[in-house]
Amino acid sequence: MAKVQLNQVVKSYAKGQIAVRGIDLSIADREFVVLVGPSGCGKSTTLRMIAGLEDVTSGTIHIGDQMVNNLQARQRDISMVFQNYALYPHLTVFENMAFGLRLRKTPSDEVKKRVHEVARILDLEPYLERRPKQLSGGQRQRVAMGRAIVRHPSAYLFDEPLSNLDAELRMQMRGEIKRIHQTVNTTTIYVTHDQVEAMTLADRVVVMKDGRIEQVAAPQEIHRNPASRFVAGFIGSPGMNFLDVHIVDDGGLAVHLPDKQRLPVPDPLADRFGPHKGQQVTFGVRPEHLAPPGELRRGNSVPITADVTLIEPLGTETLLHFNIAGHEVIARAVVDAFPRSGDAITLALALENARLFDTRTGKAL
Ligand code: ADP
Repeated sequence: MAKVQLNQVVKSYAKGQIAVRGIDLSIADREFVVLVGPSGCGKSTTLRMIAGLEDVTSGTIHIGDQMVNNLQARQRDISMVFQNYALYPHLTVFENMAFGLRLRKTPSDEVKKRVHEVARILDLEPYLERRPKQLSGGQRQRVAMGRAIVRHPSAYLFDEPLSNLDAELRMQMRGEIKRIHQTVNTTTIYVTHDQVEAMTLADRVVVMKDGRIEQVAAPQEIHRNPASRFVAGFIGSPGMNFLDVHIVDDGGLAVHLPDKQRLPVPDPLADRFGPHKGQQVTFGVRPEHLAPPGELRRGNSVPITADVTLIEPLGTETLLHFNIAGHEVIARAVVDAFPRSGDAITLALALENARLFDTRTGKAL
């Protein structure tokens, strides 16, 4: 087991294509870190550099106390699970899992012990003598993971391991991966474009954009205090809503919307809004912080009027889409009596949960 440290890591490809633009990241021993971001943001390239499958253009990578920039992948003591895992079709589950150990000339008794131990963790014991084609998709995925786990490496690297699975299996395997991590307790670095996967699995989430890290924090912290508008919009399902507003003092501190609505800022929140008096800023509010009539209002909520444009019932909750001052805004509701498309209703906006962003840079204020 080991910590993993990246210092100023850059990857540029031929023709000046820069995939990773200087990443600093310190991953603690036993930590589960998830790299998440839209396609092309440099997640896989970062993981592949840690694995030794891509050269580092500049900067350093340490696994444990060793600088690994110049080590081959097989010298790095890591195990990787890919999206397209290939099991050996002619080998049994046991032999598929034992393969890496046999390559390393592990004594036969030890191979047997470790494969059985991992098969027990993964509920694969009844299937050890089967061949891959006699397994379900989820079982095959577990064998691929088992192959990585038997080796007791310093770290596990996962590259979108669940993206080929259907939704139900993906959710089941997500739980499984978390359970395995709790059992084997080994440093894990996991890449996904799915923010729900990132939030549910990670001790800390690393949100990437355009080859850079936007924010590194625990899931709750990322959700509650996003470092930028980008993170706020990317994390959450649906993401945060944004409105262009003016903060003014017109006989009292207030937020002015483009449609002339005025949201008075209560005294306890003056410290947060006051410093931006006279400024145009981006105002962010999460769907769960906009309560339709009939729902519990949180403290320090202010009324905001909105035109309903669309209702999306999801069963346990309903997403209400609105137009507010020309912006599309979504509220999450659990009320039974829904408004109808075309209605103008008054929502209670929990102002203490709202966030402000610099309109030009997108950084949180
Ligand atoms: P992600 O995993 O976040 O989707 P990648 O790390 O795969 O992103 O890619 C980051 C960027 O690097 C993308 O713009 C991609 O086109 C580019 N890239 C990846 N591999 C190569 C390559 N072998 N040659 C040139 N550009 C590449």
